[in-house]
Amino acid sequence: MSKKNTGMTSSFGAPWPDDNTSLTAGRGGPVLMQDVALLEKLAHFDRERIPERVVHAKGAGAFGHFTATADVSKYSCADFLQKGKKTPVLARFSTVAGERGSADAERDPRGFAVKFYTEEGNYDLVGNNTPVFFIRDAMKFPDFIHSQKRRTADNLRSNNDMWDFWSLTPESLHQIMVLMSDRGVPASFRHMNGYGSHTFMWYNAKKEYFWVKYHFKTDQGIENLTWAQAEEVMAKDRDHATRDLYTSIANGLYPSWTVQVQIMTPEQARDFPYDPFDVTKVWPHGLVPVQEIGKMVLDRAPDNYFQQIEQAAFNPSAFVPGIAASPDKMLQGRLFSYHDTHLHRLGPNYHLIPVNQPKNGAARNYQRDGFHDTSAAGAGPNFWPNSQGGPAPQPVIEPPVPYAGDADRHVQAVADIDYKQPAVMYNKVMGDYEREQLVTNVSNHMNGGVDQRIKERSLVMFWKMEPDCAKRIAQLVGVDIGKVEKLAALSFEELVKATA
Ligand code: NDP
Repeated sequence: MSKKNTGMTSSFGAPWPDDNTSLTAGRGGPVLMQDVALLEKLAHFDRERIPERVVHAKGAGAFGHFTATADVSKYSCADFLQKGKKTPVLARFSTVAGERGSADAERDPRGFAVKFYTEEGNYDLVGNNTPVFFIRDAMKFPDFIHSQKRRTADNLRSNNDMWDFWSLTPESLHQIMVLMSDRGVPASFRHMNGYGSHTFMWYNAKKEYFWVKYHFKTDQGIENLTWAQAEEVMAKDRDHATRDLYTSIANGLYPSWTVQVQIMTPEQARDFPYDPFDVTKVWPHGLVPVQEIGKMVLDRAPDNYFQQIEQAAFNPSAFVPGIAASPDKMLQGRLFSYHDTHLHRLGPNYHLIPVNQPKNGAARNYQRDGFHDTSAAGAGPNFWPNSQGGPAPQPVIEPPVPYAGDADRHVQAVADIDYKQPAVMYNKVMGDYEREQLVTNVSNHMNGGVDQRIKERSLVMFWKMEPDCAKRIAQLVGVDIGKVEKLAALSFEELVKATA
């Protein structure tokens, strides 16, 4: 009969006699190699850290549920979206560029990732607190992130590098406007909206498809920190948003978000005034109204951060029937990159870590082995087709989409529309206070070590968006606005040469 062992043991289950004293040859003698307890303890400690996420390294998360509140069956057959359905979720919020120990109050977009543990498998929506993104082609992603992270030479972050990249990539202006607006530093993870940012496909049981954008509107209300408030918070508490999330849930204040979608038919997309798959653009509410589809509530904090949040792997390619990708070029790159980064960070069997496992049963396929294989494969056949009772492929009804055209690198040059939406934001969405905040934040940021020529080139972006905005920033960053006006008259190629 086995004896239940409740005392401390080695990793292999044997009793562990002393956790504080090494085995030595005599009282003052050297430590013995045969002290296997010490060796095991130190060796495990040496391996405690895993590679941090290359982006979104610092984050916090919580569990909860999503309840579908509207009949969307004519748009999507996804089971978890059907009215009345309640689905467990894990949400993770993060900053982007900082390391695992960086401050929560940095000016940076916030990641807003949700894993829906649906009855048809996991669906991951890996968005941000901003409806748009800096670039529209994943080919630029490593360069963009390098410009945000530490420099090769001195391991310092550089505002100069950020504005250099941004001003040479004017499609980024819309996201810069959001980042430098008062929403650039949310007061907490609870007080911000989430957006799927990309366009996704929904399809119904009749194989009709639609294009969709997600909006998670905070029920706590938007609250932000000014530049000065953020500096004060960071000086006192580098983890303020993580702490806020845990404390609120511990106190029974469960944060919630009202979930909305914008839906476009393929015909509307074809006739849309600009590329509806360009992630640097929103779909104006006036053209494509939002409709409410559900509510997300977070009511359980993790009890082991590493196991449940650090090892949580969100992956935009985790779709369920009824939802699929769109041709958004940035999304297409992320479909590869997130899965790939988790393979590097957590290993080939990261899907078997409990927090990442689907709740509708174990994965059934013919992928085998690799580090830490604890799968339910058992003794079954490891090839398909087989006639030995292994799982057979299931029909998927995803509709065909008529993509066509020349295989080529189709350059999407900067165009008027790249300035138009930020201009609507500046002139119509923002009030006097928000405009003041934007100008202050941009100036403070540029005055943090940006070269004169790069300030001038950056101000050309703002000039093309709205001369009033450029004038106000120019005054605060010591740039001659007359020069900016002249530079703005050049072609983009001439501007690049003139500010080289
Ligand atoms: P609307 O007036 O219908 O919507 C404006 C949106 O702007 C609201 O959703 C509001 O969010 C949001 N907003 C307000 N202040 C900020 C800020 N500082 N940073 C980011 N978002 C903010 O207008 P349109 O739909 O025609 O869009 C106009 C402009 O608003 C766009 O060009 C874009 O720059 C911006 N925007 C549009 C969104 C969209 O999906 N259409 C989403 C977010 C921004 P809230 O309701 O929470 O106050």
